[in-house]
Amino acid sequence: MEATGTGDQGITIGKRGDQGCHECEVFGEGPEALESTRSWSLCTKNPGHEGFIPYPDFRPDHLPAGWRTPEKIESVRIMAEITVRLRVNYTSFDRPDGFAFCNSKGSTSVHTGSGWIHDVRYRKDVPCPCSDCATSLSPQPEWTEIVVVTAAHVVYNTEEAQATAVDLFYDDERSRRNGRMKTAMGSEVKFVDVEGDTCLLSCATHDTDLNEKLQELRPSAAKTFAERNCFANWRPTVGNVCVIISHPHGKPKQITIGQVKATQTTDGVVSRLSYSACTCPGSSGAVVLPMDAVGAARPARSAVHSLGRGELGLNHSSAAIHHYRPRYDKLFNQDYAEYSL
Ligand SMILES: [Zn+2]
Ligand SMILES: [Zn+2]
Repeated sequence: MEATGTGDQGITIGKRGDQGCHECEVFGEGPEALESTRSWSLCTKNPGHEGFIPYPDFRPDHLPAGWRTPEKIESVRIMAEITVRLRVNYTSFDRPDGFAFCNSKGSTSVHTGSGWIHDVRYRKDVPCPCSDCATSLSPQPEWTEIVVVTAAHVVYNTEEAQATAVDLFYDDERSRRNGRMKTAMGSEVKFVDVEGDTCLLSCATHDTDLNEKLQELRPSAAKTFAERNCFANWRPTVGNVCVIISHPHGKPKQITIGQVKATQTTDGVVSRLSYSACTCPGSSGAVVLPMDAVGAARPARSAVHSLGRGELGLNHSSAAIHHYRPRYDKLFNQDYAEYSL
């Protein structure tokens, strides 16, 4: 799509259209909160945003009858707690031609997406990569690494990761002002799969408040986040309830609930989902939680929201064929216990 506006507005419109059916939000030059509010109110995909439930308002009876077991309700709550917003301040020249934002290389227009915390590691084995430590004569010996899952078209490489602010606990508008929202800067892309539209990036932090909050979220029975966020025995079928938690238009986190409407399989395993749960620009990279997959015990499969406005008006997860690639499996399944408290 060609830019139809002028100046900054034209650049923003041009970048927005430079992602096909992917669902990043693109901010203009105004204050981010205003940009976010404006695009929310001007939204043409879901005008009024009926069906979007602000996370603080989520109640068990939002789930259809028969899907309100304590285990499922708790799973939605945990996934909501660890859902993050990403603000990406740079678009790399290394993005492949034909990929999202490939005509916006070098752009410093902010695009936003969603993601979730895959794991938290307490590290002292390698130097802290944060900008303070990298330029300090006495870098801090210990740091916390937060590993986040998002879509590859949201964050493509380390260059973009280092220009990405990851906002945790952005639960409502007050969170930004009262200190509940915490921001960590990205430091490195650990893994990217363009075809499967998945990215693992890490962030570094020394924030003690944030560390305490992450400790509270750690599962008591399992050792790592990865083990709790598993999607084992992942056999979502048509008709299953499906929950998405994301930051549409860069706003505080919202929960949408729909149904799995179609599945694709690769080598006999479900590799892609189509669903009726609402998504908007800014939802790219969000977790797609088919409720029949909750509570299983073996890592690790996940579906990442990738595309909107597809066939029959449905939204779609990533191709997810990365699950069969050894390097990805190693990253997702390795034992992080040595880094864990
Ligand atoms: Zn919208
Ligand atoms: Zn540091």
